[in-house]
Amino acid sequence: MTQTPAFYFDILEILSRGRCPGCELTRSKAMHYIDHALYGLVTDPHAQNQFADTGGYCRKHGEMLLKIPWGSALGVAILYNRLIEDAVEELKAGGEEFVAGEKRGAPTLGFFPVKGRKRPLSRGDNPDCLACKVEHETEQGVLHTLTESLRALDQRMLEAVNGSEGFCLYHLDLALSNPLPEKVETALRLHGLRRAEHLLAELKEFMRKSDYRFTGEPMGPEGDSWTRAVAWVTGVSLEKEETNPRPGDLKRKMRAER
Ligand SMILES: [Zn+2]
Ligand SMILES: [Zn+2]
Repeated sequence: MTQTPAFYFDILEILSRGRCPGCELTRSKAMHYIDHALYGLVTDPHAQNQFADTGGYCRKHGEMLLKIPWGSALGVAILYNRLIEDAVEELKAGGEEFVAGEKRGAPTLGFFPVKGRKRPLSRGDNPDCLACKVEHETEQGVLHTLTESLRALDQRMLEAVNGSEGFCLYHLDLALSNPLPEKVETALRLHGLRRAEHLLAELKEFMRKSDYRFTGEPMGPEGDSWTRAVAWVTGVSLEKEETNPRPGDLKRKMRAER
């Protein structure tokens, strides 16, 4: 390889910590995007139009937005004031056709073509969510770098995969959905099997100690194996969110991670 592909070192580093690069990078990139976009969205009317015309963030990224520590709650107020104004117009319009963007002039660049149908009032499951797009692109990038490095028999990547068990079942399955050389496919399957067998042993111990005959035995590290089982199968994050963030916390955290 002449140029280091995107996320290459991130993947090696996250695997060395026994975590899933797919889960960690999609989450951190989406958070970073939402945090950064906030400033652009607040000062740039074109970006505000795009945000409104795409219906804002989906439910999941709305939750993420609220958990991000920032310096400007005013920015969020401005953006969501606009979305609520749109909702008021749509509610007033009743059954009439209403297409967001038409009333105030659609964005000229045409990145997000105005749909000719009445859009739903709620965008909880929003296919146009801009943070979802970032997440999807990151996920594709991570999986592409992983599979292409392995296909090229890159030694560092092969050793990282062989010496760890970080990928969750969800991202492992996505990686295995590509046709891969037998050696690579075997390495990925063994990677998953190691974690699965560790989890099964821990779950077995957890269930044994949960039996009334053995409740006197103190619970060990297997005590939270049931949460890690859910996380491994689904790719859901076990990161504890900061409950009382201070402004600028995320920026400091992201800088420290670089
Ligand atoms: Zn994952
Ligand atoms: Zn989203």
